[in-house]
Amino acid sequence: LSNKKFHPEPTRVKVGNHEIGPDTLTIMAGPCAVETEEQLMTIARAVKKAGAQFVRGGAYKPRTSPYSFQGLEEEGLRYMAEAKKEFGLNTICEVISEAAIEAAAKYVDMLQIGARNMQNFQLLREAGRSGMPVLLKRGLAATVDEWLNAAEYIISEGNPRVVLCERGIRTYETATRNTLDLSAIPVIREKSHLPIIVDPSHATGVFSYVPPLAKAAVACGADGLMIEVHNDPEHALSDGPQSLTFSNFDQLMNELQAYTRLA
Ligand code: PEP
Ligand code: MN
Repeated sequence: LSNKKFHPEPTRVKVGNHEIGPDTLTIMAGPCAVETEEQLMTIARAVKKAGAQFVRGGAYKPRTSPYSFQGLEEEGLRYMAEAKKEFGLNTICEVISEAAIEAAAKYVDMLQIGARNMQNFQLLREAGRSGMPVLLKRGLAATVDEWLNAAEYIISEGNPRVVLCERGIRTYETATRNTLDLSAIPVIREKSHLPIIVDPSHATGVFSYVPPLAKAAVACGADGLMIEVHNDPEHALSDGPQSLTFSNFDQLMNELQAYTRLA
């Protein structure tokens, strides 16, 4: 179902009035984690002003350590719904369980399946059954075929609204958090009709590496970008070192204007 052979036209995934696909460069930006109502509203205002169509923000955080901040859960989802109402942004949140999918369906526009859950097949099936648009991140050590099979789990439940997200894979290199696999973009293009966006924030783990790789991803034909932006990266509860400040994000968005697909 994800195979281009049986569906040669590129898929456009509709989220509210917005379409993720080849006609527009979709920008999803926001904090790694929703921390407070004020934090999310401040960031949502800034990313909207800079031209993003989506605000992202984790309410359920599957952290590497169980002692790290785990997210505000339903309270965080409520703040996302407020940001949508206030700024007219589409909203996306990661889900990590069936209960989280049920809660997210009440508050946000799009579900995100994180890298660590890419092969959580039960979760994929439940995301499929929800009928909601799903952003499927590539697993930390997943091949392109494994990733497309994960998409297949969602689509085979009768939900074709799947967008792929390349977010870097594990290699022997330690200078960056992961290694961004830009070649995944043309590879996916050849194999699948699904839209693909790129997350240079989790791929690199370093804010100064985010803008060059964001631009490279667009040059490679990505349909959009997911970028972590924070009002105070130094004090962020998660992923501060890779988060762009508002002015860094503004500058990147201005540079991306060179690409005419930016709506
Ligand atoms: C995220 O986007 O918040 C996240 C945790 O990313 P990933 O699943 O790619 O690590
Ligand atoms: Mn993060």
